Amino acid sequence: MEITFLGTGTSMGVPIAGGFAPEGLSNDPRNIRSRCSAWVRHNGISILIDAGPEFRIQSIKNKIRTVDHVLITHEHMDHVAGLEDLRAYNYEQKDGIPVYGTSSCIKSIRSRFEYMFGPDKYPGSTTLTLKEIQGPLHFDDLLITPLPVTHGKLNMLGYRLNDFCYLTDVKSIPESTKKLIRGAKMVVLSGLRWEPDHPTHLTIPQAVQLLEELEAEHGLLIHMNSYVNHEESNARLPEHIKLAFDQQVVRLD
Ligand SMILES: [Zn+2]
Ligand SMILES: [Zn+2]
Repeated sequence: MEITFLGTGTSMGVPIAGGFAPEGLSNDPRNIRSRCSAWVRHNGISILIDAGPEFRIQSIKNKIRTVDHVLITHEHMDHVAGLEDLRAYNYEQKDGIPVYGTSSCIKSIRSRFEYMFGPDKYPGSTTLTLKEIQGPLHFDDLLITPLPVTHGKLNMLGYRLNDFCYLTDVKSIPESTKKLIRGAKMVVLSGLRWEPDHPTHLTIPQAVQLLEELEAEHGLLIHMNSYVNHEESNARLPEHIKLAFDQQVVRLD
């Protein structure tokens, strides 16, 4: 399995619109973060997790030539704004693209992009097949397990793909979901900033504590804001937990 981090930044991106950035973020390219999304390839299957506002650019930079399935974590714009740009794959693949999420997430996508759905679908607009995820999905030897988590008041999903777990925008993980995560080789988890606490997101220290509790062999953090410096943060983190960065590629056997 090969995982490419298309984006690792928080909802506003890093730097935010207008280029406003805290002093000292440095010229390290790993401190430039587009909105969170990941691309997973396994035995010829191409899966996109979320499609953020920079999906078009991310897809070009990372040479994404096919998209077979899209897993959506939740309906916030930084995770779905790029669905529109799957239109290019409709043309290439001559087919609609299945998009999976919770029933409320699917409902939200349908109303937000109403011109793409229903009898009045705008001619030539993106063709997505929205699918409510009810339980694990199997694609050949790839097992995808939805991982219910909370993001403040919002119930949303992370996903486990064989031994790889991807959890973004997390505030808390119920015990029943922790059981589904345990034993994975790699766990990706969001950590917004070092401090202070946030009502809907884990901080980096809270994410590290959760990864330790989950006994993750390898942990990678995503969804960081403008105040998180890559190199300085990694120096403070344990050896098996580091910040992910845009265009990072990870291979799992
Ligand atoms: Zn987000
Ligand atoms: Zn969110």
